[in-house]
Amino acid sequence: MLAEELVLKQRTKILHALCSSGSAEHLERVLDILLAQGALIWEDYQNIQVPGRTLYTNARQLLDLVYTKGVDTCGLFLHALKLVLPEAQAVGLSFSESCSNLEENDERQSTSNQTLLAQRPSLVHKLQGCVDGVLEALLDSGHFSSADCDEVRLPIYTPTQQARRLLDHVRSRGDLAASVLLQYIHQKQEPGFPLNQRDLTPPKEFLKYQKKLSSSVSAQACFLSTYGGTSHMSLDDIYTDGELELAEVNAHGPLGLEDIVGLAGIVNEEADTVLVSGEAGSGKSTLLQRLHLLWARGLALQDFLLLFPFSCRRLNSEHNELSVQELLFQHCCWPDRNQEEIFQFILDHPHQILFTFDGLDELKQSFTDEHRVCCPTQRAPVHVLLFNLIQGSLMKGVQKVVTGRSEAVSPLLKKHLRKEVVLKGFSPAGIDCFVRKHHRDPTVAAKVLESMQANTALLGLCHSPVLCWIVSQCHKELLGCGEGSPKTITDVYLMILQHFLQHQSPLKSTMGLGWLQEHLKTVLLLGQLAFEGIRSTCYIFSGTDLEACGVTEKDICMVFLIKSKDMSSTHSKCYEFSHVTLQCFFAALFIVLSSNTNRSVIPKLFELENMRETGLTRVCFGACLPSSDQQQQASEKESKAAETPNLQITAMFVSGLLSQRHQNLWLHCCPSAAVEKKARQVAKCLSKGIQKHFRSIPQPVQGEKKSMHAMPDFVWLIKCLYEMQESQIAKDAMSKLEVDHLKLTYCNIGPVECTALAYVLQHLRNPVGLQLDNNSVGDVGVEQLLPCMHICNSLYLRNNNITDEGIRKLIAKVIQCDSFQKIALFNNKLTDACMQDFSYLLKTKQVFISLRLGNNNITAEGAKQLAEGLKANQTLAYLGLWGNRIGDAGTEALASSLEKSNSLVWLSLVGNGVGSAGACALANLIRKSTSLQELWLTENCITRMGVECLIQALKHNTYVTSVWLRNNDLSLEDAEEMKQLESRLIF
Ligand code: ADP
Repeated sequence: MLAEELVLKQRTKILHALCSSGSAEHLERVLDILLAQGALIWEDYQNIQVPGRTLYTNARQLLDLVYTKGVDTCGLFLHALKLVLPEAQAVGLSFSESCSNLEENDERQSTSNQTLLAQRPSLVHKLQGCVDGVLEALLDSGHFSSADCDEVRLPIYTPTQQARRLLDHVRSRGDLAASVLLQYIHQKQEPGFPLNQRDLTPPKEFLKYQKKLSSSVSAQACFLSTYGGTSHMSLDDIYTDGELELAEVNAHGPLGLEDIVGLAGIVNEEADTVLVSGEAGSGKSTLLQRLHLLWARGLALQDFLLLFPFSCRRLNSEHNELSVQELLFQHCCWPDRNQEEIFQFILDHPHQILFTFDGLDELKQSFTDEHRVCCPTQRAPVHVLLFNLIQGSLMKGVQKVVTGRSEAVSPLLKKHLRKEVVLKGFSPAGIDCFVRKHHRDPTVAAKVLESMQANTALLGLCHSPVLCWIVSQCHKELLGCGEGSPKTITDVYLMILQHFLQHQSPLKSTMGLGWLQEHLKTVLLLGQLAFEGIRSTCYIFSGTDLEACGVTEKDICMVFLIKSKDMSSTHSKCYEFSHVTLQCFFAALFIVLSSNTNRSVIPKLFELENMRETGLTRVCFGACLPSSDQQQQASEKESKAAETPNLQITAMFVSGLLSQRHQNLWLHCCPSAAVEKKARQVAKCLSKGIQKHFRSIPQPVQGEKKSMHAMPDFVWLIKCLYEMQESQIAKDAMSKLEVDHLKLTYCNIGPVECTALAYVLQHLRNPVGLQLDNNSVGDVGVEQLLPCMHICNSLYLRNNNITDEGIRKLIAKVIQCDSFQKIALFNNKLTDACMQDFSYLLKTKQVFISLRLGNNNITAEGAKQLAEGLKANQTLAYLGLWGNRIGDAGTEALASSLEKSNSLVWLSLVGNGVGSAGACALANLIRKSTSLQELWLTENCITRMGVECLIQALKHNTYVTSVWLRNNDLSLEDAEEMKQLESRLIF
């Protein structure tokens, strides 16, 4: 196809590829190249880059212009595009074949200004890191005023944009200004004066500081804090890789630690902040700790000269306004000398500095971009600094890695992200590896693993590293409890509570249920501390706070509270719960056991209301709370969003603790009537919460199915119901749900959530379609879903990390479920190995309607096996195999097996390497079929001969309405001619 046509036909795609990230970088790089090539003249450039106009409008203007300039310009444009676009964004775009030479153009460089144009792409690159130097030279030579310099240095510009604005300004000042710039660059490039900042040798004091910082980072990072009170487990000994994925769905494989700051999956080139998100306990802090350690040892992230680690939890206690310089030096590492020089070096080399912020969700204030601070020496409240750093209005170019729970990440924050990486916890192999590292004795490890495998609900829980740690830690209790091994998250936390409390009583006097009674006082004290902390978003407690709450040294020894690590020396002896979920658990214990809590605590907890005004007087948290009332009110307002996830976890534990199964525990600890009353309150809140969801379901449009898209809180309520383990409550709640389709896409559903879902959904009265696309169900999750399969008529599991193993178990179950009719498994990890299972499903279930297996790893071999099943099936209407590798041989097998089908109406073999032999086999199917309506063959390699076969067959068929043939091996002329012959062909 001619370049002009390609530009025209792909206009929408090109616009999307250039602009959808919201960053102007791609467009500007294309313009740089076209200017250098002389494909655009300066006036064209000015007509395109109109300040204040939207990125899309500018890009459209460019497309119009290159099109009108004709085929050569279009060719150059496509080439520039190919160079500039990252692979992921170029997918689906065709670039012209004519190989233009994109070398910079030397011919037109008789003046300095012409050189600026001809060498623009490399100058933009070379100017990085020396914009300030050039500006100074231009000021000295009188070509620039300080207002000109300010304009170039505007903090809204990225370093590359600053370079471009500088070039634009210089051009407008004439040839002499241009020669000053070129001379500066030239001098810098001479030996002994390296331009590239990587080659710069940092000053001696800087190197000393680097050493000091890295040894303090290393000291902080080498032990795992959860083990602080139990054993000194070094990170090296226990660290197990978790599963990391890009939040944006794409075909990228598994990510490694270095990919977090690497190039993979960048959605906004201009942003500097990478978010690592994941549930509480998924291992976010540990992952950062690992990165810190590897950096400090020189084993990773070596592009960064300095790494400054921060904990948002600790930043909460900083009430003074600070500048960035103070923040770095006071909170991470104090330079012994030459602070100014070191800070200046940091400012001059932003790309070689990395900041990490752990636990953004634990910061008292929710992210906003209202208060702007651009100057690194300006003081501001710490959260304002942090938000400006994240946005890049401060320290632009410094990379920042931030961790936070997914639900606490607002859309506003997402706008400022370079990319989001999701930490999913351990894979099944990861669980295995962790347990073996935790138990050096292989026999013990094998036993622990065996008991996990025997209880799939528990295995599901162990995907969460924090739960995996508890289960491993409590292996004796686990191995001793046989049939009654833990099922719910509350069970697991009760196990660790018992484990550590009994660990503390050397005499082991407390067998049976008395263990709680014996330690009741400690539990209540820690519970109150935790509860008050949750209510005021406080996770670090000073010695005075503990005293005020009555917590003694003895209670601290209980390992639930550990000494808080702190890089700075300002806060002496502070404590925190060894994990935030443990704080929630203690808060829940307090709610259940205390007679002091207000009656409205439970309803407020379940409505996720700010609980601050209720009941108890605040007794502690001097370190965490702002001093004046006004400040306090402001902080209460801001902190609402940060609190919610912890309130939800606490509510989940309250549900679990108040379950009938645990009522015996409380017998001698508090009045039974009070506990029962609280349990009734919880049941009522859950039922009310679920009903509220059901009421919000809109009535279906006539003729359509009634569908419910779950709100985020729905999954949480379901999990609370599961923790309660009272089927009557689940049954009552579900009996009122009348929908045909339940949609839970992008809801962070993993194996744990699947267990809860199946527990609750099995009580539905009528079959539903269950849509779980884009979650992390995995094979273990699939297994957890089996108990509710009898109530599913369709199951959508697109993009869920499912392998042949999961499919085998799923199919073994669903062939027994009468109503099961449809399954969608697009973008999983299926191979030919599970095609026999599908074949069996098709043979056995003569009610099955729809099978969608796109974007997996199915080859001709798998298609042949599937064909066996298809031969014996008379109900399948939809078969989707888009994006596999079925080829001609597979297509031939499928086509011949479908010849006798009178149910198939829709078949997709898009992107399967189907050639003309395959097309001819499909032509035979068309000849014979009386049901097929749509055939999708886009993106294959069918030639004219194959299409002719299809045309012949269509002459004998009146049922087929369309055959899609875009992007096959056909010339435009051929396509046009064929279309005239058969209007049902779509090119
Ligand atoms: P998050 O920050 O997501 O809440 P953490 O990193 O605090 O989770 O993990 C909780 C606990 O789980 C850790 O203290 C540790 O015991 C265990 N853990 C988490 N990730 C790992 C890992 N990659 N390897 C070994 N243990 C881990």
